[in-house]
Formats: sequence, C-alpha cells, structure tokens
Amino acid sequence: MKVLLVFLFASVYAKHELYEGWKSFYVKPSTDVQLKSLRNLNPELDLDFISYPTVDREGVVVVKPPFQDDFLKFMAEENIEYWVHAEDVKAQLDQDDQLIEAQRKATRFSRSERVTYENYQPLEVIYEYMDTVARKYSQTVTLVTPANSFEGRPIKYLKISKDNFKSGKPVIFLDAGLHAREWITIPTVTYAIHKLVENVTEPDLLDKFDWILFPVVNPDGYKYSYDVARLWRKTRSTDQHSLSAMCPGVDGNRNYDFFWNTVGTSSNPCSDQYAGGRPFSEVETRAVDGILKEHLNKLAMYITMHSFGSMILYSWGHDGTLSEHAFDLHTVGVKMADVIVKSSLSHFPRYIVGNSALVLNYRASGGSEDYAHSIGVKLAYTFELPGFGRGGNGFILNPRYIKQVSAETWAGVVIGAREAGKLFNARSTQPNFDNTRQD
Ligand SMILES: [Zn+2]
Repeated sequence: MKVLLVFLFASVYAKHELYEGWKSFYVKPSTDVQLKSLRNLNPELDLDFISYPTVDREGVVVVKPPFQDDFLKFMAEENIEYWVHAEDVKAQLDQDDQLIEAQRKATRFSRSERVTYENYQPLEVIYEYMDTVARKYSQTVTLVTPANSFEGRPIKYLKISKDNFKSGKPVIFLDAGLHAREWITIPTVTYAIHKLVENVTEPDLLDKFDWILFPVVNPDGYKYSYDVARLWRKTRSTDQHSLSAMCPGVDGNRNYDFFWNTVGTSSNPCSDQYAGGRPFSEVETRAVDGILKEHLNKLAMYITMHSFGSMILYSWGHDGTLSEHAFDLHTVGVKMADVIVKSSLSHFPRYIVGNSALVLNYRASGGSEDYAHSIGVKLAYTFELPGFGRGGNGFILNPRYIKQVSAETWAGVVIGAREAGKLFNARSTQPNFDNTRQD
C-alpha cells in the first residue's frame, strides 16, 4: 500500500515535468504599437498566449527557457509593462492540480447533478452525461456521433429539439473544447444542455429554436491536456507532416477553409499555430463543418467557446475589415456582453466586443467563426471566456468560478438567441431572402 501511494504521489508530481523551467508573465501593453509588436513576436520567441492582452488590459504569456532572456530584453526595449505570473510553470500546474483535488474532496458527497459545475470533469464523465441526457430525454435530445477522432474516440454532439428539427425553426449552435487546454469552455456548453432540458427556466428557447450543443470538439486533445500535458492546445493527429510523429496535432482554429494558412498561422507542425497539411485536414473540424453545412439555411447563430480574455469577437479575423453584417454582429454582441457583465462578479474583467483582428491587434486565418460567417451564418462569434484577474497565478480558472462563468455565459446566449431569432424571422419574411454567401 505504501509503495502504491508513493508511486501515485510520484506519478502526479512527475506529470508536469515537461514544463520545468518555463515561466509565465502578465503583459500589459499600453499602446496599439506595443500590443502589435508583442503579438507579432510570437514566431520568433515561440510565445504562448494563455490569455490575450489588449491595450491597457493584461494578458498572460508563457515563455520557454531558451527564449526567456530575449523576451525580457524585448519587453525592456519596447518599454512594455510586465510582471511575473508564474515563476515556475511546473510548480504552478502542481498547485492547480491541488486546487482541483481539494475542490473534488470538498464536493464529493454533495453532488446533486450528474455533471457538477464545482469542478472540471474528465472526458468520460462529460460523455456519460451526454449519453444519459439523450436516454432520459429521448423525446427532445438526440445524440449524434458523426465520426471518430484521430485517436479513435467517438466525436459526440447533441441535437435538442421539440420536433427533431422538422418544423424549420432557427438553429442555435454552440461548440467548445476545440483548443484542448481551454477547459472552462466545456462546462459552458454542458450547462446550456442542462438549462434546455433539465432545469428549464426559459421555455421559449426550445419552443422557438432548435439547438446543437457540441461540448468537446477535440476529445483527443482534451484527454491529453487533462491527463498528460496541461497546456496542450492542438489536436493529436500524426499524419500531417513528416515531423508530425514528433510534433503531433494541428491548431483546430487555424484549420478551417477560410484564407487557410495565410496569416497568424504556421506551416511548422511543431508550432501551436500549425494550420495542418490542408484545410479541414482534421476529422474534428470536419465534424463542425458537417453541422454548419447541414443546417446552414436555418443557422441563426453560431458561437464557438474559447478562453481566456472576456471578449466577444467577430469577423473578419484575417484582415480586420467588417462584413456587411457587422452592424448586427456588433449590436447582438453588445447585448450579450451587457447581460453577461450584469450577471458577472465585480472582480471579473468587463467584456470587450469587436472585430477579432482589431480587438486583439492580431490577424489570424482559418478560424471557425470566420469560416461559418463566410459560408452564410450571419451571426457567428468567438467567445473568449473570463480567466485571470490581476493577482491570479493559475493556468485554469479557479474551479469555484466554473458555475458562475457557465451561468453568466448562458445568460448571454439566451439574449443572443432571442435577438438572433428576431433577425432570422425578419430575414425569412423578406420576399427575396437569399441565405447564400454575399460577403
Ligand atoms: Zn482557443
């Protein structure tokens, strides 16, 4: 028994050795020029932004050992404000684990829901929850498994509808977990499932809409981040490049067929922004594409959940121009942000709403929200969920805030869906309504 305990202890604490010597910093540019130069430093110094900075609002960046001196030199030369987030990334990840474990112990005997929102859940628990909901509410919930992931896990989403999508209601589609380490995104979508069938307080949402809820787009990556390498972002494919066996995975949010691999991406499979060997090389992004295309003429709103940053972002992300639907995108985005801010906690950052390339001062192509918008989804958003406040050191949102973030995000989605429904119905009653691409 003693040997087993020692072994378990050692295996837990050996878990984050990969991050030995890594450091992370809060960075707070005060001008657009500083923000731009910082974001564009990425390929040179292999910086990894865990939370996105904007002008006068700090983000968090992880810096690997070989680049730390050059990074600090750059920050001094550019006169950009920064301070240490985690002096030792490995030690911080160990502390994050302890926080999760302590929370697990504290809530173990008080579970009233299958998926609790007091802690992060392993993939198996989330999948079991989806299976259970589909069985228990079989009149309204349909489990769909469009394909298996690269490593052979089922890819699963739920369709929720009062009439199995037959009467042509507008469709709302939420997805999450494309970026493996963005754990907080997943409960925001399981919470939407919970609010649509288990704890219904807005019955109009199922009377007037059909829903697609896809909590874990990248199950291989999530499992790998959960069990092996916490900061893993990509898929786990190894068939994209001769180096892919050594550097697996593709950045799913650079893999969509929208100005693919032209800006803010990498052709190097060892990069966290690797766009893949071709557009839609990944079975996981193809699964999302399949949903978008299947429901295109009814899709009133698509939201893809990411973290961190407290932002609602819209197209076009590759060049910062606005689409012809920018007014609606901005108006509905602000209404969602407004409700979220009102439902949020005072020490959480306020939401920012805008064009992704302009807000982040960083252009990137091949993202799912841009792709969805380009094929005709008028309201397509990326949410960057809240994560780090000043003074927090972890790489996860503290689990005690999971329920808060899930509930406030849902409040935003509720308003967004209702607004999207109004716009959808107004467009549908126009005589020459054409839902094909006009952008
Ligand atoms: Zn992301």
